[in-house]
Amino acid sequence: MSMRSSRRPRVNDGAKLSSVDLAAEDDEGTPYGIWPCEHCIPWHAEVIRDGDDVFVREWHASGCPGFQELARVGVTTDPGRGL
Ligand SMILES: [Zn+2]
Repeated sequence: MSMRSSRRPRVNDGAKLSSVDLAAEDDEGTPYGIWPCEHCIPWHAEVIRDGDDVFVREWHASGCPGFQELARVGVTTDPGRGL
């Protein structure tokens, strides 16, 4: 049994995907860490540059509890206005 078995994602790999855009750094320029979603298999992240702004776009399965929590706290798809 592998060490990852206790963190097995619960959302199917064939699920529809949704994305959220997150700030890549705080107001002082300290970068945020990016950790894989423990709830869904298709999670992945993209680093996006828009002029001088850099942000992170996370993709999750649409039914992912982690994605739904991000949506609940008001994460936006507008670059630079993430968490
Ligand atoms: Zn997820």
